[in-house]
Amino acid sequence: MAIFFDTHAHLDYPDYAPDLPEVVARAQAAGITKIISIGTSLDSSERAVRLADKFPGIYAAVGWHPTEALSAPDDLRPALRKMAKHPKVVAIGETGLDYHHLPSENCSVGSASRQLAHSANATQISHPPSTDDRPEIQPRSSAGHLHAVIP
Ligand SMILES: [Zn+2]
Repeated sequence: MAIFFDTHAHLDYPDYAPDLPEVVARAQAAGITKIISIGTSLDSSERAVRLADKFPGIYAAVGWHPTEALSAPDDLRPALRKMAKHPKVVAIGETGLDYHHLPSENCSVGSASRQLAHSANATQISHPPSTDDRPEIQPRSSAGHLHAVIP
């Protein structure tokens, strides 16, 4: 059987709460040996970390989803930096620049997350921006890694 890693799941969402152990068991039975559950807010990221603590095959990414950037705290970095120290946090995300949904180009959430991923030399899981007409805002990574996920 092929072995798969699911690098983009949101297992902390309420949809999975009623039967999460069964969801994880079904994934494992299908050959998915490791799952990254990605936080979309500080609360969601904390839940992802708790799931990583509870299930051996689950890892966490901590971040703030770009479509919710307008409701983000002024500076996410201290909280995310603290969570990122957990041994099963493997990336910063979900983050990114979402000019498709946001009216402003001054999105501090994506910038703060990129700075954190860069300073921690961590993988960044990025919600891809709509950059067809904006090549100057394509994500860059001079250290660490950038992993773009197609929505
Ligand atoms: Zn996602």
